[in-house]
Amino acid sequence: MSWGFEEDKVYNRRADIHAKFGGQQQGGIITPSQHPVVFIITGEEGLEHGYADRMRADGAFEYFGEGQVGDMALQRGNLAIATHAAEGKGLLLFRKTTEGLRFVSEMVYEKHHIERAPDRENNERDAIVFELRPLGAIFEATEDAPLDDKNDLEQLRALAKASAGIFPPTQVAGTRNVYQRSRDVRNYVLMRAGANCEGCNSPAPFIRKNGSPYLEPHHIRRVSDGGPDDPAFVISLCPNCHRRVHAGKDGPAYNDILLAKMQSIEPN
Ligand SMILES: [Zn+2]
Ligand SMILES: [Zn+2]
Repeated sequence: MSWGFEEDKVYNRRADIHAKFGGQQQGGIITPSQHPVVFIITGEEGLEHGYADRMRADGAFEYFGEGQVGDMALQRGNLAIATHAAEGKGLLLFRKTTEGLRFVSEMVYEKHHIERAPDRENNERDAIVFELRPLGAIFEATEDAPLDDKNDLEQLRALAKASAGIFPPTQVAGTRNVYQRSRDVRNYVLMRAGANCEGCNSPAPFIRKNGSPYLEPHHIRRVSDGGPDDPAFVISLCPNCHRRVHAGKDGPAYNDILLAKMQSIEPN
C-alpha cells in the first residue's frame, strides 16, 4: 500500500488520481501541485515507435521520458522524475491496461541515460531513459544493514546531505547507487537520534542484533519510508510513535508536530 494504492490493483485515472490529487489530465507524467507525489504511466506511448519501457535483469525499470518530437529535455515532467527524492515527493508507477491503470509500485529515481530512439514523426532523437528501482526493494535491502560507525556524526551528515537526491548529483553522490545513498541517510538519522526516539524522547525499546538501539527512520514529507531523502525531513522514531503517525487517527496532526520538531533536531 502506497498513498492508498494497492499493488496490482486497477485504478481509474480520473476518479482515483485526478479527483484526489489533481494534476495534468494528459500525458504519461502527472505532477500534482498540491501533493508531494509524481505519477508516471508506462505502456502509453513508444510501443508503436519500436521502443518501450522495460524491466532490466538487475531489477532496474527503464522508463522513457516525455517529449513527442525532437530531443527530450530534462524539464517539466522529466525534471520532476529526476528531482522527486530531493523534493521529498513519492514516485508512483502505473501500467496502462485496457481496464484502467494498474498500480505497479512506488519507485525511486536512481539515474538516467540518453538513448537514440525514434520520435512521433519517426526521426531519430535523444530520448531520456530513467533508471528506477522499487522503493520496497530498497527499503528491505537497507533495513538490516549495519550502522556505519567508522565515520563521526558530522561526516555522516555530510554524506547523507550529498546522498539526499540533490540534482544534478554531486560527485560523491553520483558514484553511489541508490541503495548506498539510502543507507547514508538512514545511517545518519539513526546516529543522530542515538538511543532515544526523536518524537517522544523515550528510550529505544530494544537493541538490534548489530548492537544499535532499535529506532525507525520516518520520512515526514512523503509519509512513505525508505530511499534517499533530505535528512532534515527524516526523523528516527520508536515503533509506537511510528505506528501512530501512519495508523493513528491523529497521524497527520502528529506528522505536523514531528515536522515542527525537525527545526531544532536538524537546523539548516
Ligand atoms: Zn516515540
Ligand atoms: Zn514512516
